[in-house]
Order: sequence, then structure tokens, then C-alpha cells
Amino acid sequence: MTPSGGTGTARRVPPRVVITGATGRMGGELLATAGERDDVWAVAATTRTPAAIPIEDLELQQASELPELLADSAVDALIDFTVPEYSVDAVEAAADAGIASVVGTTGFDDGQLEALRTASESAPVLKAANFARGVEVLRQVVGEAAAAMADYDAEVIETHHSGKRDAPSGTAKTILDEIERARGAGGDEDASDGEDRVHGREGRAPREQDEVGVHAVRAGDITGVHEVLLADNHEELRITHRAEDRGVFAAGALDAAIWLEGREPGWYEFGDVLSGE
Ligand code: NAD
Repeated sequence: MTPSGGTGTARRVPPRVVITGATGRMGGELLATAGERDDVWAVAATTRTPAAIPIEDLELQQASELPELLADSAVDALIDFTVPEYSVDAVEAAADAGIASVVGTTGFDDGQLEALRTASESAPVLKAANFARGVEVLRQVVGEAAAAMADYDAEVIETHHSGKRDAPSGTAKTILDEIERARGAGGDEDASDGEDRVHGREGRAPREQDEVGVHAVRAGDITGVHEVLLADNHEELRITHRAEDRGVFAAGALDAAIWLEGREPGWYEFGDVLSGE
């Protein structure tokens, strides 16, 4: 007999997650995607503006009540795609309750990142600027390309919807970190900004040998495009990732919440999930 009382295979209980920013673009996508899956269960969601959310059995609460919600409910993970100032409070509340966090929010400053790192000493925290599998692969490929083409000019161009708050995107910063790391120029975390990054150009602005151009385009409802250009006088290489639908980020974040189940407190990245360990 198994604990489930069945005849051989114990039925796995899906991890129970709380989703913050329920009325946001990503919050809505996470709720919709979770509602279609049976390997994860969205048991509650928080929002600053209570609204009707069409998912059965879902507890909808005020964002400010998150600590009580986490302390009182049987929850395995928090999934947060909101704004840095709220995200830090949410992750700290989860860590206080011994609950793992999946953080998709971008635009943290150094102090906020430090607070997330501290929270990860009490409970697992998995943070990624981009939960698309293709972007994780792009990051790895870009590191290889930037090292092999070390003398080539590098430019990073990202394009997002007009409602995006932070620029350049957290993903672009991660890609820049990778280029700098591959070329021995350091760079770490999404709040850092390498000395050779040039954000857009205006007027008389001849290119320096070591600079990396960064361009943030904002228009319409574009989900997210990241392009890395490596060029010299005779050839150019462009590596592009295009997210067609926010569902790809939601799926990755839910996969991360499932992967975190039973993990020790600590700092994790999306690459850890994809490594399959
Ligand atoms: P959005 O503006 O549509 O939603 C933001 C949500 O946060 C809303 O529900 C809003 O009510 C809530 N919010 C804002 N301020 C708040 C506060 N002070 N307290 C509590 N809640 C607050 O934004 P979005 O497009 O859903 O993106 C959210 C975040 O996720 C951004 O940082 C974005 O860059 C990031 N993002 C990450 C990925 C990824 O794969 N990691 C993908 C897409 C977006």
C-alpha cells in the first residue's frame, strides 16, 4: 500500500503556488497557464486592485496581505512578476515563512539584489530575467561567440512593448554580462553596468574599439525580441531570440517552481532547471 491508498504508485501532489501581480500581463498569463496544467496548482493570487479572475478554487487577496497569506496557507512556492520594490517584500515574506520564490521581476538595484540574496539564505530563491528556454540557450551561445570573435564589434538590441518600465531589459543586461565575461571584462548580476556599455548614440559619437552598444526599442505590444550583433569589416553574425507569446515565460516560471520543490535554501538560476539535475 502507498500513502495514497492505491495499488502501487503514490499519486504526486502538485506543488501549490501563489502568484503575485495577478492583474498584470505576466500575472494573468501565469494564472491562465497554471489553469491548463495539472503538474502545478495556483492556490492563491494577490493584486493591488481586486478583480474577477476566472480560475476556480483560487483565493484572491490584496497584495499587502501576502505575508499573512503565506504564513497561513499550505504553499510550496511564490511566483513574482511585479515591480522590484514589491518583489523584495514578497520574497522576504516567503523566506520568513520558509517558502521558495521564483522571481521574474526585472530592474532591481544593487541593494534590492542584496536583499534577495539574503532571503535566499532562509529559503530557495530562483531568479531569472527571462524564463524562455531559448534565451537561456542564446546566453550560452553568445558567450561562446563573443569569445571566439573577441575583436568584433558587439551591439545588443532589445525590443519590447511600450508599457515596459525598465531599460535596457534585464535579459539584455544578462547578455551584456555574458559578453563581458567572455571577453574578460567582468560583469555580474542585472544591476551591474560595465564601463564599456554605450546606451544609444547621439550627435558625434564615433565607436570605440571596446565599447558594446545597447539599444532599447519600445513600441506597441511586442512581447520581447533580443538581438546580438557581432561584426567586423567583412562579416556579421546576428543571433536573435523572439518571444511570440508571454505563455513561454509563464511555462518556464511554473517549471522552475516545480523544480524548486524540496530544494535547500540558496540562490538558483533558470539554467539550473534546464540542466535537469
Ligand atoms: P505589468 O505592469 O503588466 O504588471 C505588473 C504587476 O505588478 C501588476 O499586477 C501591478 O498591479 C503589480 N504592481 C505594480 N506595483 C506594485 C506594488 N507597488 N505593489 C504590489 N503590486 C504592484 O508588468 P508585466 O509585463 O507583467 O511585467 C512584470 C515584471 O516581469 C517586469 O519587471 C518585467 O520586466 C518582468 N518580466 C519578466 C519576464 C521573465 O521571463 N523573467 C518576462 C516578462 C516580464
